[in-house]
Formats: sequence, C-alpha cells, structure tokens
Amino acid sequence: MITNASHLHHWTTVSQHRTSEGAVAYERCDCGRWRVRRELTVVIERSIPVTTPDRRRNP
Ligand SMILES: [Zn+2]
Repeated sequence: MITNASHLHHWTTVSQHRTSEGAVAYERCDCGRWRVRRELTVVIERSIPVTTPDRRRNP
C-alpha cells in the first residue's frame, strides 16, 4: 500500500486575493491537493474611548 503521506508538496499559487482580514492565497500541488493560505497582514487594534457616566451617589 503506497501512500503519499511523505510526499513533499510543491505548492503553486493559483489565485490570491485580499480580504478585509488579510491576503488569502489558494495553492495547488501536482498531486491534486489544495490548501488555503491566509496571511494576516496587519492587525489593527482600535482603542475606543470610553466615557464613564457621571455617577452621583446620594447618601
Ligand atoms: Zn503534493
């Protein structure tokens, strides 16, 4: 029984496009396998100013 488990994939980028989350590349090997590579380019952390409500404690 022959398996291609140890087969060294040779990935060829078929198509790639950008999404809002980064670049996504579809790659194909000669053996017929596909894989999707997602590259997160920049993670933007937004700092949201939080306005604390003015609380008055009534005794
Ligand atoms: Zn392969």
